[in-house]
Amino acid sequence: MSPFSLAGKTALVTGAYTGFGQGIAIAMAEACAHVLCAGRRSCVDTVKVINGQAQDMILDFADRMVAKDLCAAQTIDISINNVGIIRRDDAATSTVGDWHDVISINLRALFFTSQSFAQSVSERQATGKIVNITSFLSFRGGIRGPSYTASKHAVAGLTKAPCDEWAATGINVSAIAPGYIKTSNTEDLLADPVRNTAIVERIPAGRWGETIDIAQSAVFLAATASDYIYGAVLNLDGGWLAR
Ligand code: NAP
Repeated sequence: MSPFSLAGKTALVTGAYTGFGQGIAIAMAEACAHVLCAGRRSCVDTVKVINGQAQDMILDFADRMVAKDLCAAQTIDISINNVGIIRRDDAATSTVGDWHDVISINLRALFFTSQSFAQSVSERQATGKIVNITSFLSFRGGIRGPSYTASKHAVAGLTKAPCDEWAATGINVSAIAPGYIKTSNTEDLLADPVRNTAIVERIPAGRWGETIDIAQSAVFLAATASDYIYGAVLNLDGGWLAR
């Protein structure tokens, strides 16, 4: 079997209704995985595209028990922690409410979903892959989003911190750090000719990334081809950080 095949594997993709989550879910299915498409809204459109190899699950990962119950009820081999939110705020006026929301989803939900997944893999004496979707704001400050940047720096840490324990039980944890990628969340930047020109000129690859760039890397990090990768954060930014 190809080391890039996910045949016989079940992949959980959180936030699979739209954006990266949708693209990753489709790419996982193309690599022959069965995909649990989970989101707080129905992922029925994603499931329709996949056509037969996926399940739609309406779940809110803000509730820690949701991941625990899901991992206890299903045999999951791959956990893609994609859900993430941002609150655009200045450091001077950032509110406790914004911090609570962002940290609850981007960090607490991500960690406890991973913990529930790791427990279930360990109980089954199986192997598993966790792929965290972080951001190049794991490494940069960014503009107007201190809570988001703090959460994504922490996700890079949570990609490395469990390696010591979980590598020994057959679980790889890695992350993808996207830069400027075309999604509905970046439409405003793309539509702004001044910002868009400045961004593209700064990217060595000379273009924005596409969801497919993220999705294909997620398949690699979920497949046996990446079995010796632990705690790595893969920069997917057209060379932005390397420049
Ligand atoms: P998106 O389009 O907003 O998709 C996120 C999905 O997660 C949405 O379907 C959202 O549902 C769902 N979600 C949010 N909170 C949830 C919860 N508590 N429980 C279940 N589902 C929940 O985002 P995206 O742009 O594809 O980004 C995906 C990930 O990539 C995020 O972690 C983001 O930080 C990261 N990222 C994105 C970019 C970019 O250029 N877009 C760059 C770097 C990193 P609702 O629609 O109901 O909110």
